[in-house]
Formats: sequence, C-alpha cells, structure tokens
Amino acid sequence: MTPATPPTEGRPDVLVVGGGIGGLSTAFALAREGLRIRVLERAPEFGEVGAGLQIAPNCTRILDEYGLLDEAKELGVVPENMVMRDALDSRELIRLDLGDLERRYGFPYMVIHRSDLHAIFLRACRRAGVDLVTDRTVVDYENTAGGARITLADGGTEEAPLVIAADGLRSVARQKLVGDDVVSSDYVAYRAAVPIEQVRDNGIAEKDVTVYVGPRCHFVQYALRGGDMFNQVAVFQSPKALAGQEDWGTPDELDAAFEGTCETVGKGIPLMWRDRWWQMMDRDPIDTWVHGRVVLLGDAAHPPLQYMAQGAIMAIEDGWVLSRHVARLRAEDAAPSAVDWDAALAAYEAVRVEHCRRILTTARAWGELWHLDGTERLQRNAIMRSIDPAEYAFTDWVYGPTALFPDEEPPMFRPVPLASARIEEDEASASDAPDADAGAALAGGTAR
Ligand SMILES: Cc1cc2nc3c(=O)[nH]c(=O)nc-3n(C[C@H](O)[C@H](O)[C@H](O)COP(=O)(O)OP(=O)(O)OC[C@H]3O[C@@H](n4cnc5c(N)ncnc54)[C@H](O)[C@@H]3O)c2cc1C
Repeated sequence: MTPATPPTEGRPDVLVVGGGIGGLSTAFALAREGLRIRVLERAPEFGEVGAGLQIAPNCTRILDEYGLLDEAKELGVVPENMVMRDALDSRELIRLDLGDLERRYGFPYMVIHRSDLHAIFLRACRRAGVDLVTDRTVVDYENTAGGARITLADGGTEEAPLVIAADGLRSVARQKLVGDDVVSSDYVAYRAAVPIEQVRDNGIAEKDVTVYVGPRCHFVQYALRGGDMFNQVAVFQSPKALAGQEDWGTPDELDAAFEGTCETVGKGIPLMWRDRWWQMMDRDPIDTWVHGRVVLLGDAAHPPLQYMAQGAIMAIEDGWVLSRHVARLRAEDAAPSAVDWDAALAAYEAVRVEHCRRILTTARAWGELWHLDGTERLQRNAIMRSIDPAEYAFTDWVYGPTALFPDEEPPMFRPVPLASARIEEDEASASDAPDADAGAALAGGTAR
C-alpha cells in the first residue's frame, strides 16, 4: 500500500504523545490509513539513547509490510545463530539457526542500532506527512465530548478524537489513568557499542547473537551496523538495590558482578559505557489500556523486563494492530477520518492485552532462569542442552504472525520443570567448586 499523505493543517485525527519507537511507528501506521497525526515529544529533538535492538520475525514481518525492511537490513545485521552459553564455563547450552528460523516464519531475525530503527520510522513519518513536534511535555489528559484533550507543561491544550499515550515506562497517562507503580527488578543494564576491531581478539562470534547466562548476571553480544560495530549488554543484580540503597547499579558494582565469569565475558566488561546505566524496571500487567478516547500503547501500557527482547516489538505490533482495525472497521466509501474509534479500540485491547501479558510474565520467568546458581544452574543447563530448537515450541507463540483477534493468538509453550533435569554426575562434581565460589562472591557483592 502506498502511504497516503494526509493534510497537516487543522485539527489532527489522532494526537500521539511520545516520539519513541512506539509513538513514531504508530503514527506512521495510522498515517498510512489517511489519518492526520500529530506527535508531541517532550525532548528538544527526536532521537533514541542506547545501543542495539534485536528484532524478531514478528517485527520484521511488519517492517516488510510497511516497506521499511530493506532499509532496516541495510542498516542492521542479519546474524547466523542465536547461541546461549553458560557465563561461568562458556559451555554452549542451545543454538538456534536463524536461517532456519527465517525459513519457518518467513522473515528474518535481525539486530539494529536503536537510533537507526528510530530514524527509519522518523523518516517514514515525515514522508507520510505526520506533524512532528518537539519540546512539548504533556502533563494531563481528559476525555471530552468529541474525543480527548491533553494539557502541556506550559498550560496550553490540544484536542483530537483520539489521544494515544506512548510516553514510555514512566508514563504520565498511566499514572493518571491507572495509578500503579513501576516494579524494580534490582537488576541493572550496562551497554556499549564499540568498533568491531576493538573486540576481534576477545573470542567473540561476530556472526551470532550470543547470550551468556550466569548467577545473577548475563551478558549479550552481537554485531551492528553491517558488522562494523559490536554491541554488548551487561546485566546484573545490584547488591546495593537489595540493600535498599537509592543510588544502585553504579559502576563499582559492575566489575564485582562479573568476577568469575569466562574469558570472553571478562574481556567484554571493561568496554562497557560507565557514564550511563539502566535500572531494569517493569510493571505488573493490567487489563485496561483504553480509557474513553485516551489509549495506552508501548511501554506506557506494557513495559517488560528485556529478557524476551520484545519491548520495542510489542510497541510496533500495537500500532500495526490498531491501524489494521481502523482499516477493517471503516466503510469503503467513508472519509479517512470517519473511524469507529470505540470499536477499533475495543478490538485492539481485546487482543493486545493478553499477548503482552504473556510476554511480560514470561520475561520475568526467563530472567529468573537465566540467573540461576548452584544446582539449579546445572539443572537449567541440562534442560537447555536437551531442547531441540528446531521444534520451535518456544518461539511459535511469539515469532508467528501478530494476532488481530484473540482466537488467532497461538497457544503458549509448556514449561519444563527444573526438577525434571538429568545432571551428569561428572558435570555436577566438576562444576561444584567454581560455582559455589563464584556464587558466594556474587551474593556478597564483594569486589574481588
Ligand atoms: C537494556 C535493554 C535492552 C532492550 N532490548 C530490546 C530488544 O532487543 N528488542 C526489543 O524489542 N526491545 C528491547 N528493549 C525494550 C525497548 O527498548 C522498549 O520497550 C521500547 O523502546 C519502548 O518504546 P516506547 O516508544 O513505548 O517508549 P520509549 O522509548 O520510552 O519512548 C517514550 C517517548 O515518550 C517521550 N515522553 C515521555 N514522557 C512524555 C511526556 N510527558 N510528554 C511528551 N513526551 C513524553 C519520551 O521522551 C520518549 O521519546 C530493551 C530495553 C532495555 C532497557
């Protein structure tokens, strides 16, 4: 479909609050349906902070429909494998052939710099005539007779038939409409994207996404920008957070958390950016995202812990689903703005709430599994080594086509109980000493 170019003058059909990946991708999706969209972003410029993003087939399928996949492929990398290793002894636990994965789902598993993906949507919005405004901080929301109204920090107001709050983890709309709080995981993420030459001698796998899972920590590596850059994410449980201190996750904790990990991880840690870190928070899933004509989307509706690498993807799917229902519910000869918003929002909420609840709860469970120690670590390793990734039981429910209706949502995988693992005796005894050693040091948070 060729993007329509809606007129930018006059009252918009939709106000989108927040110009992150969720806000921009949704603005673009709705502009393609001929709607007039205005995006209000509080920052002085549109942009993204951070490094790489993994985007799975349930996202690249949508990028392809939008005509943006080729651009994403040019800027990103299509890795060959996804490999999980034990962070202490570096043994391989599971290997997913991403070529096979692409054949199964029809679209690639990719990695891309988040600023590149954001810029792709920004350019697409500009081409589609989206009205993009910066330096606008929204402080309040209310429903009106004909839609909804937002209030800006400077006291100004704006109205539209629909207001989409895509204002992220600490959403003002979520605070006002739901009033719940963020949930701290006590884990913190450090990031780094460095020239590939800097890491070539570190034992890295340039063609793979590698995840090292260890006691109370994990480490992710993959190439970016056509292979010229290398992305690393180091995540660990902060002893200061556990002790209730306010200033937690600070760089002094980083080195201590990865003491005792294997050589490749050890060589990666000194390269992490130390001037900025991300305390890992999510929120409990909620059932209601639609409040009259104010609707939550992206992290404002469902901020996950990042272990499923689906946060930005869920936001992109949200916008795609909403736009598909707008198109479906509009009579063929109706004006683009003649949208049955109540029906479209009900359909959006009916399918997205449950899907995102599954991702949020699985991400929490996944994080616990990655960070196990002692015997449970060995049980996890044994189970992971026994799984045949080509069965796709753990990916079908998430990488398949995004559901538009609840009955299209695929069944979830059956969890494998840790207790069912068969640990080889030699492995248990070989791993006991270093494991207990590393575990004790990490639990105490001592810098060795
Ligand atoms: C370490 C880490 C790794 C991750 N890895 C992945 C991954 O591999 N794959 C993946 O899919 N996801 C990943 N995620 C998750 C992903 O980054 C987020 O889920 C996604 O960026 C959310 O997008 P959003 O647009 O909903 O929110 P945000 O990106 O937070 O955007 C919100 C926007 O709203 C603006 N805003 C906020 N308040 C206001 C206001 N009051 N008025 C106006 N504007 C406002 C902000 O300035 C911002 O531009 C990761 C997250 C982390 C922390």
